[in-house]
Amino acid sequence: MRKFGVVLLLLLLAACETNPVTGRKQFIVVSEDQAITSSSQAYVQMLQPYQQKGKLDNDPALTARIVAITERLIPPAIAYRPETKDWDWSVKVIDDPKTVNAWCMAGGKMAFYSGLALTLKATDDEIAQVMGHEIAHALAKHQTEQMSRAMATQLGVNAIAILTDARYAKMAQQAASAAAMVAIDLPNSRDAESEADRIGIELAAKAGYDPAAAVTLWQKMAQVSGSAGKSDFLSTHPAPEKRMEALAALGPQMMPYYQDKSPRPVYKLKPQPLVAPAK
Ligand SMILES: [Zn+2]
Repeated sequence: MRKFGVVLLLLLLAACETNPVTGRKQFIVVSEDQAITSSSQAYVQMLQPYQQKGKLDNDPALTARIVAITERLIPPAIAYRPETKDWDWSVKVIDDPKTVNAWCMAGGKMAFYSGLALTLKATDDEIAQVMGHEIAHALAKHQTEQMSRAMATQLGVNAIAILTDARYAKMAQQAASAAAMVAIDLPNSRDAESEADRIGIELAAKAGYDPAAAVTLWQKMAQVSGSAGKSDFLSTHPAPEKRMEALAALGPQMMPYYQDKSPRPVYKLKPQPLVAPAK
């Protein structure tokens, strides 16, 4: 027991690392590589049911629109964190008109729910703000933080100890994959949200999308929050006045990026079928 306590203490000490991108201390027990591997499995597990019902990428116009926006957001993301050029970037559009949501997992695996476009009547600029914000969470390793929290709270500290033991590699892999799915639905800390807002609006501006849309997006989000439509996005992303004020204040700093006349690079996403998870 005592030995376990020491191990745990060492783990927790190791767990607080300073994020090189944001400088903030994060509680991390899942490495980013581990998060990326688990996320690619969780991605398939989450999207396969939609694919089986014919509800994945089934609206060619909307899919083309989301892909085009994402392809413009990825180059500034890679410029922000160059090693992400090796990520297996992907975006899938889920036909779910009642759900207002979008996310990006560790490693650049993204999903966009049709309800976000339909319910908000979102413009390209506004969609770019959502996706920029979600990509920013991945760049700043927030999913690693979320997965760490999911594992620590849901599976208990024992699971963390198991993760470091090679004998339990397979169990650890399954736990991590489950945590990757749980992490998507966990609200981020306020600090993480501010980071994602700040980085996201910059990615969007560098991709040529109007920073003013960050404010109108949240105004629209706030309007639908009272309506019958289910907003998973709002449940993890509360939209207080302060958030809109902060984004509005960032707008002027983003204008030089937005107004830059040089050509915007495009990252061509490969058409990627969902692959069955490795057994
Ligand atoms: Zn967020």
